[in-house]
Amino acid sequence: MARVYIETYGCALNRGDTGLIIDVLRSRGHTIVERLEEAEVFIVNTCTVRSETESRMIDRIKALKEIAAASGGKLVVAGCMAKAQPYLVAKAVPEASIVSPQNASRIYLAVESPSRTLLLVGERDRAVVAKCLMDRVGLIAIQEGCLGNCSFCIVKNARRRIVSYPLEAVVKAAEDLVSLGAVEIELAGQDTGVYGLDIYGKQALPLLIKSVAEVSGDFMVRVGMLNPNTIIPIVDELMDALRHRKVYKFLHIPIQSGSDRVLRAMNRSYTVDECRSLIKELRSKVPDIAIATDIIVGHPGESDEDFEETLRIVEELDFDRVHIAQYTSRSNTASAALRQVNSKLRKKRLRNLNKVVERVCFKKHEAMVGSIVEAFVTEKKGDSYTARTINYTPLVFKSGSDLRGKWVEILVKSATFFDLRGEVVST
Ligand code: SF4
Repeated sequence: MARVYIETYGCALNRGDTGLIIDVLRSRGHTIVERLEEAEVFIVNTCTVRSETESRMIDRIKALKEIAAASGGKLVVAGCMAKAQPYLVAKAVPEASIVSPQNASRIYLAVESPSRTLLLVGERDRAVVAKCLMDRVGLIAIQEGCLGNCSFCIVKNARRRIVSYPLEAVVKAAEDLVSLGAVEIELAGQDTGVYGLDIYGKQALPLLIKSVAEVSGDFMVRVGMLNPNTIIPIVDELMDALRHRKVYKFLHIPIQSGSDRVLRAMNRSYTVDECRSLIKELRSKVPDIAIATDIIVGHPGESDEDFEETLRIVEELDFDRVHIAQYTSRSNTASAALRQVNSKLRKKRLRNLNKVVERVCFKKHEAMVGSIVEAFVTEKKGDSYTARTINYTPLVFKSGSDLRGKWVEILVKSATFFDLRGEVVST
């Protein structure tokens, strides 16, 4: 049996896959170790979403190769880079085993084999759910794959086909996480809106949310990212699911740009007007809902005017959180072939958008200073805790006792664009 060290990079899907890998390896008698010096097998679960991530991954893989070679150990490269760019991995570390995300449940074959193992074809085993628990916060990757073919996206080359885990398996995973102490469960996915299309022939996210929320225990459900075009057909059922008392009134809806011209170049399947109507409907029918979004700055073809439209839509739709990414060109994507926006201009636009986002988000948070809000405590670092309001706004406070899993009342004393700070007035 081997002592296995795992490093994980990237998004919620990779964190879910690492949880799956740990479950599978432990069930076969292997030990997961925290320190490199203790390991015989080194697994790196890679991300390749941006070009800087790609370089960082290659550097880290090469460093781990040296460490593995010095101790006579074995290196296994898993995750999105393994699937989307196996040629880069093989060039950097020719002796490493390579395992795609879809083969995460079969990674033991690479760990246990004395020779180099390539697991790059084959489908995900729906019987083994990708889930993990970080301290008291749980995550279940309910699906991977999307309906889209966005021209900038490399992720689709790693996780193209829609694969959802059966509803009963997700509920069982939630029960397991709650029994281990989870006070929050994130239902994560590449586009959670398409959950169920592959196995039930219809979008089943609202039913899944309610089913998980009905698991007994003191925890809250957080719905992961979903695209505007996949929400539109299920918006009524989704709003109904969000009204459940154990579900955060929070959605993460990546609009990516405020310009229809850029959305077309990105091959996104919706218009700015459709986003506008959707978000206004959500805000009017789910009181206090918070909406986060993603914006890509400097996609090829983005003019000054297009960028101004993005600034305007961020203000108009009053997003509660905005994840901004500067566009970087990715291999084997259509956007890489388009005329690129020069990097100086991309950086300038990034700074401008950051300023607008900080102002918009700060204004919302500042309005809460002086009020007493109810929040659910989920995280602890020393004597510092993070609680979440019903719409998932983070509220940081100090406490001498462990309040995780409890609703508390907190007086909001200060705000940043990112979170609130306060003190408990009643538990
Ligand atoms: S919806 Fe678009 S950006 Fe998202 S994973 Fe699919 S192809 Fe990539």
